[in-house]
Amino acid sequence: MKTIIEPFRIKSVEPIRFTTAEERAQLLQQASYNLFQIDARHILIDLLTDSGTSAMSTEQWAAMMRGDESYAGSESFYRLKAVVEELTGFRHVIPTHQGRAAERILFSVMCRPGHVVPNNTHFDTTRANIEFLGAEAVDLPIAEAADTQAWHPFKGNMDVEALEGLIARVGPERIPLVMLTVTDNSGGGQPVSMANIEAVRQVTARHGIPLYLDACRFAENVWFIQQREPGYESWTPKQIAQKMFRLADGCTFSAKKDAFANIGGFLCTNDDRLAEQETQLLILTEGYPTYGGMAGRDLEAIAVGLQEVLDPDYLRYRITSTAYLGRHIAAAGVPIVEPPGGHAIYIDAGRMLPHIPRHQFPAQSLAVELYRHAGIRSVEIGSVMFGDKAHHELLRLAIPRRVYTQSHIDYVVEAILEVNERRHELRGYEIVWEPRFLRHFSCRFRPVR
Ligand SMILES: *Cc1c(COP(=O)(O)O)cnc(C)c1O
Repeated sequence: MKTIIEPFRIKSVEPIRFTTAEERAQLLQQASYNLFQIDARHILIDLLTDSGTSAMSTEQWAAMMRGDESYAGSESFYRLKAVVEELTGFRHVIPTHQGRAAERILFSVMCRPGHVVPNNTHFDTTRANIEFLGAEAVDLPIAEAADTQAWHPFKGNMDVEALEGLIARVGPERIPLVMLTVTDNSGGGQPVSMANIEAVRQVTARHGIPLYLDACRFAENVWFIQQREPGYESWTPKQIAQKMFRLADGCTFSAKKDAFANIGGFLCTNDDRLAEQETQLLILTEGYPTYGGMAGRDLEAIAVGLQEVLDPDYLRYRITSTAYLGRHIAAAGVPIVEPPGGHAIYIDAGRMLPHIPRHQFPAQSLAVELYRHAGIRSVEIGSVMFGDKAHHELLRLAIPRRVYTQSHIDYVVEAILEVNERRHELRGYEIVWEPRFLRHFSCRFRPVR
């Protein structure tokens, strides 16, 4: 059979609300054309993010009733710890309320002004936490990553030669750790190969530098390895994940992605001394080490989610359904970042709307039109978000896990193709007000006449 079906049936449903095109035009005006400023109840299909938006399973909801809400020594923590230890092999598991809290604690303990932290591509919170401490965040993606149209099976790989060059230039003593983001979120959800992780590991080990994984989408990365990397065809996702984590000295993790949880995260390390310092910081700002800012029931949901996400039926459906959206719009001539990644499809709005200059935000124009036309919310990843540091003008369609069915995605495809038909009519936008930091969340736009 070639039809891939959702590997679940639906027990509890949540209505979504239809609005008219006139209502949406008015809502857009009230929101100053910033989709973050539109209330969720006015969104029909929400592809803003895959973070914290997953549907939990019956097993996760059942486990939540077992949540042990004790302040100290919660049973739920020990259940989560056992799952994480078996998966990753790391000695210390430090729970945090989400991924960026794990980052803040890790970098606070390891980074000083003058330090340099290499990554394939830093996620925005990762970069911000490093820069906040006065250290420098350096992206070292492979050359193919710069071309949205280039096809490479592991476009998230780190440029190992560039890493060697950086270490030689700044000296290993100024590099407290090297990070690899799996999958590479800011680089289009592209995977990193096991061979690349091993190569980076060899370099870091030679220089005595610890290697950490930013492991938010580890399971999606694992599936790409199983499908694309010679030698792993007959491995289970869990076996590949176990090998991947054992090449690293620690990891940060946001449970809002590949653990299907609505909140949560953790930090792992094999270093006893670091773990001690990290735990002290944790108690200061997050909570006692057996809950780390989460409820006991959150720990339970994560423990179950971490096991469910490695089900091959789920991963096949997940990666295939993301590619389904990408292939159907690309086949009709909509330029996307190739090949489709794990959690999202990125439309190259710079290419799709060449008549709108960068400073008039082509991807924002597309986001607004997609909402006006069909009630779909997406997010600009380009000059609005990164200013003149933006490499491309992308529109991201992030797919929440286990939430939308194929007919929802068919509707999204149809909407995009209809907008594409009259793309020449789309106009640019200008910013009329912006805050000092992270302007994309709250800035106000005006259509350019
Ligand atoms: C989401 C994400 C983070 C941060 O996690 P939060 O739970 O949102 O704080 C860090 N790195 C990557 C790659 C992410 O996708």
